Amino acid sequence: MKPAVLVIDMLNDFIKGSLKVPGAEELVPKIRKLLEHARNHHVPVIYACDSHLPQVDRELEAWGPHALKGSWGAQVVEELAPKKGDFIVEKRRYSAFYSTDLELLLRELNVDTLILVGVATDICVQHTAADAFYRGFKLIVVDDCTKALSDEKHVKGIEVMKDLYKAEVVNLDEVLRKAFQKSP
Ligand code: ZN
Repeated sequence: MKPAVLVIDMLNDFIKGSLKVPGAEELVPKIRKLLEHARNHHVPVIYACDSHLPQVDRELEAWGPHALKGSWGAQVVEELAPKKGDFIVEKRRYSAFYSTDLELLLRELNVDTLILVGVATDICVQHTAADAFYRGFKLIVVDDCTKALSDEKHVKGIEVMKDLYKAEVVNLDEVLRKAFQKSP
């Protein structure tokens, strides 16, 4: 297994701002722990970040303005700020694969497994999981490092990823034990 951690939309607007996911700040210390662990084990850390263009992005019709390119709202929360050697992929739709170079990056890194964390479970995480599944990547979803606008939506998103995209659903402690057994 050659994993990478994909941190989805842990941006100011979703954690603290205009489209706040209730309770998402609870994910921050957990994801921070996961990222520190990944970096220590030379597992790539990739941030997939909404970066919307005003006026043109159709997603804004559904949600109103959020995570506009270059704004505070589109920045990763400072507690999880990317470190040297991490990668950032800007996206304009729910899926981190759609019209981005994420797939190219993963192929170049020889990654075959994505560890998904972030928000929202049933929107950007789930749509990214679908696109990863279509492209043959294995999926590990960290249940307690993802959140949706409600607990029901979270559970539904987790079920879809488990049933349709064969995601392995684990908690943080399990992923720390499983995915990072040895340094290369
Ligand atoms: Zn968006």
